[in-house]
Amino acid sequence: MASIPGNRLESAVSNVSKADPACRVDEPVRLHALAIRGSASGQTVTFEPAPLISCAMASAVADWLDTSIQPLARGYFNLSLAAMRVGGGQECRRRNGASTGPISEHASGQALDIFAFKLAEGGTSETVLVEKPSGLVQNRFLDAVRQSACGAFMTALGPGSDAAHANHLHVDIQTRRSRTSRFCQ
Ligand SMILES: [Zn+2]
Repeated sequence: MASIPGNRLESAVSNVSKADPACRVDEPVRLHALAIRGSASGQTVTFEPAPLISCAMASAVADWLDTSIQPLARGYFNLSLAAMRVGGGQECRRRNGASTGPISEHASGQALDIFAFKLAEGGTSETVLVEKPSGLVQNRFLDAVRQSACGAFMTALGPGSDAAHANHLHVDIQTRRSRTSRFCQ
């Protein structure tokens, strides 16, 4: 997917201990920007700061931007998605930073935390903070974004699900036992 014009992904070397197999990332990439496919004007979405994730996760994010986020940005604001403020690329840790319990999906680069969506077009721009959307339209946009994330990823957790996700939307592609055990709030 790096060959798609507008995509800026560099293959990366996971910087955490390779001794821990739970923290191994398949095909790690540093995700700088993704092209919106099917967009005549060659729009790209930048990731701030560029996270280190697996290529499979980068691909899932790219599909989600194309099929859901860009159409929602146009529909609600008549703007294009320009950037996303993100965090939680690869980190070798347990879920929610706990000292015991399951290894976080972030450990294997299969997850991304989204803090804000930046939309822009011409001289107009709008920033939607996941923690604190402002006004009815931003609230509806975020509701629709979260709903679409439930279909696009295996897990989508955001404000209201638990204290650890009060200020961001967590999405991951961690495979669960069955499609019906998909975890989404
Ligand atoms: Zn997360």
